[in-house]
Formats: sequence, structure tokens, C-alpha cells
Amino acid sequence: MLIYNSLSHKKEEFIPVDNTVKLYSCGPTVYSYAHIGNLRTYVLTDWLKRVLIYNGYNLKHAMNITDVGHLTSDADSGEDKMEKAAKEQGKTAWEIAEHYAQVFFSDLKKLNTLPADIIAKATDHIQEDIALINELEKQGFTYRTSDGIYFDTSKFKEYGVLTGLSWEQLNNSLKGGARIELSEEKKNITDFSLWKFSPANEKRQMEWPSPWGVGFPGWHIECSAINLKYLADAFENDIFYPEKAKTIDFHTGGIDLLPIHHTNEIAQVEPITHKPFIKYWVHGEFLIIKGGRMAKSEGGGLTLSTLIEKGYDPLIYRYFLLNAHYRTKMEFDYEGLDAANNSLSSLRELVWNLKNKNDVSTDLDLSNYQKDFKEAVNDDLNLPKALSIVWTAIKEYKKQPEQYSSKKTLTMILDFDKVLGLDLDNWQPAEIPEEIKDLAEKRNQLRLEKKYAEADEIRIQIEKMGYSLKDNGSTIDIQKI
Ligand code: AMP
Ligand code: ZN
Repeated sequence: MLIYNSLSHKKEEFIPVDNTVKLYSCGPTVYSYAHIGNLRTYVLTDWLKRVLIYNGYNLKHAMNITDVGHLTSDADSGEDKMEKAAKEQGKTAWEIAEHYAQVFFSDLKKLNTLPADIIAKATDHIQEDIALINELEKQGFTYRTSDGIYFDTSKFKEYGVLTGLSWEQLNNSLKGGARIELSEEKKNITDFSLWKFSPANEKRQMEWPSPWGVGFPGWHIECSAINLKYLADAFENDIFYPEKAKTIDFHTGGIDLLPIHHTNEIAQVEPITHKPFIKYWVHGEFLIIKGGRMAKSEGGGLTLSTLIEKGYDPLIYRYFLLNAHYRTKMEFDYEGLDAANNSLSSLRELVWNLKNKNDVSTDLDLSNYQKDFKEAVNDDLNLPKALSIVWTAIKEYKKQPEQYSSKKTLTMILDFDKVLGLDLDNWQPAEIPEEIKDLAEKRNQLRLEKKYAEADEIRIQIEKMGYSLKDNGSTIDIQKI
């Protein structure tokens, strides 16, 4: 299996660290609803998981929930997004976190993503954060300012390795940029907060005691601590043993997280464990709308609920996402979603028909498509290509369906769906009301009597009632529009 590694900037052969593949994905900041762009990144993680499972690997997946510490500016300034939302919505920060986290999990379920083995809230891991910051302090990587404990990036030689720039290049390139004005006391532009003190004049809803003073964790520390605890196995009985940390196979997230968040995650771990933190970094490109990106902070984007309210089944959105490779930007539009709807409907009906067909097998083989499919998904998750192979196989089958075993064809498509995740096996056509069935029967009778005009009127009546008639050779299928 080949996968593009942001660390080496090239496709690499995947070689697991040990028997169980460890995968971490950065979870959402739960101060508002996830938009469909965020969800693209979670579906990417799901596809990576499915391809690994398809290849026979055991998997352990952990994901965090950022419910504290993500400030409105990624450069350690501004308000905490959670506390800000709490004020705006007249709720506690805990209520806000709980509500948006639940909606997020429900979205993931609707998109048929495989659940993570471990879900870790930032607020449940404050002690692990403190243990990690303690160790960084002990080994001389931190300093104190009036508003918190900071990581001194100049002390970590490989700082910025993900960006492809050296520490000097990064700092020079950021001079004059947004990060410089932010904290006068920061020694270097790339330095970042590990622990922030609660403001003296304000009681925060979420704050904890620490060796440095009452406050809350910086945004990046939770991901390092959660990785170290659950995947790198560096905690035993709540005590942190940096030297015991194992390298983790995968870390996923959107491309925007690479230059700061993921760069800082590495910095918080590698100088004290002295080994690679993550073997393969996988970043998904953005979903965009009309050329712009859809940050939640920029007025909220489209959500899965918006699509559902407009009548789209969430799996149509999942199908839509199959059309672009994860490392290319993808533009969202409703035409594309409608096209995905049509294709998914055909696929579902085909599976349904194959299940209900009597087999007249001559056992012609479609297995070469299975080989091509596997090759495509193993080539850096080339799902658009894999999908086109699915349709080529179906076209081949449809040319002479009597030549192929419907059972084998069904098994093949359901095997493809282990990766695609469209839940094809569980789909059933909507129940057709008796009234519609009677009208269709009446129309059929009229046609037999060659009363075409009257038959046509009934067809129009059926359509007005929300059903269509599809000529399917010798039979007429009724479908919900
Ligand atoms: P957040 O909740 O803002 O921390 O983001 C959750 C995930 O969504 C992160 O992995 C981001 O990188 C990712 N993300 C944010 N915006 C987009 C977008 N427009 N398209 C794809 N992924 C995104
Ligand atoms: Zn993270």
C-alpha cells in the first residue's frame, strides 16, 4: 500500500510499526456545528481506515475532542472559542461542548464512518497535559511569560520539519506576518503556548490548577498527550515515561493543521522521546465553496443537516466526496450532489436487484476488476479511480447480465463497498403504497388495451404523487422520486 507522507513529501510504501496499526485523527473544536468541509476530512480518515482493514490490518484509532483551549487566533491570542460561544449562546461551556460533540458523532454515524476506538476529550486529559509540560520544562524547552508557559522552538533543531522549512526560514518567513504582534513576550515567532493562565480579572468556566498557576492547556498539547497516552503507550498508572513512547503509524487532519498545529504536536513530543512521533502524516485538502474556504469562524458553513433538510441522504454526500482525490481541493455544488444522488441510486438499485435475482450462472469472471480496484485504493487512496473501476465492472456486467453469476457480482460489489462505505447492503427501496401499485396496474391494463392517452394520464397522476415508473424490459418498476 502506497500513501503520501507529508513528512517526506512523497508517496511511500506503508510498513506498519507493529501488529496493530495506530492511527490518530485531530477531532473537532466543539463550539459550533461541523461543516461539510470538516466532514470531508473525517470521511478521508474513514477511507484510510477502511483501506487498512481491507488489506487485513488490525487497527487502533484514537480521536480527540477539543473542548477547551482553542483560541480564536491559532497564534495563542484572542478568546477561547468555547467560552466565547458559551457567552454568545447563554449556556455553559460544558453544555456547548456536549451539544456540538453529540451532533458531530451523529453526523459521523450518518456518513457511515467506522467509530474510533478511543474518543478523548481535552478536558478529561488535563493531568496528562501537565505531565507532558512538566517533562518539557524539566528538559529545558519552556519559558514563562506573563500569560503562560511557552515552548521555545529555537531549542528544537528539527522544528518545522513538516513544512519543509528550517526553523530560521520559518521564523524569517513569518516576520511581519500575523504571528509577530501577538505576544510581545514571545522569544520567537514560532513559539507557542503550552499552558495559559486564567486572566486575573476574569473567572473562566473551564480552568484547572497546575504547577504554574490556574489556567488551561494550550490548543496543541492535548493531541500530543492523548497520542502519547493511548497510542504510544507512554503512560503507565498515570505516570509519564517519555522514553517508553512508541512511534505511531498514522496521523490525519486537514491541510490547514500542518504548519502550526501538527508542527507543534511534533515539537512537544520528539525532543523528549528521542524518536519519531508519527511515521506517516496524512493531510486532506479542503472542500471549498465558490473559491472560498468555509471556516466555522467565518460565519458558519454548510452542515450535513442543511443537506438533509434539502432532501439529500447523507450517503449522497459521501458518494460526492469519492469524486475527488483527497489531496486535491474539491468544490462543492448542488449539481455535483445531484449527480452523486443519481449514481448512488443506480448502484443501490443494482445491488437490490442482484439480491433478488434468480441466478442463471455461467460463472464468467469479473475478478480482474477486483484486482484493479485493490490496486487503485492502495495507490495513495485513489478512490476516484477505484469508483471508475466499479462502474466499468458494472457496465461489463450489464452488457450481458445472463453471462455472470449475480451472486458473485453482488459479492464483488459488496466487497468494493467495504472500502467505499456506502452501506449498499442495507439499502432497500421505499415501500410503495397500495394506491400507487393499483394505479400502475390500471395503467398497465390500459396500455394492453392500447388506450395510450388514458394510460399516460395515469402515469402523470402517479408522478404527481411522487413516484415514477421505470420501464425495465419485461417489468415496470415503481420508484419514489
Ligand atoms: P476544527 O473543528 O476547526 O478543528 O476542524 C476539524 C477538521 O476539519 C480539521 O482536521 C480541519 O483541518 C478540517 N477542516 C477545516 N475546514 C475544512 C475544509 N473546508 N475542508 C476540509 N477539511 C477542513
Ligand atoms: Zn490535533
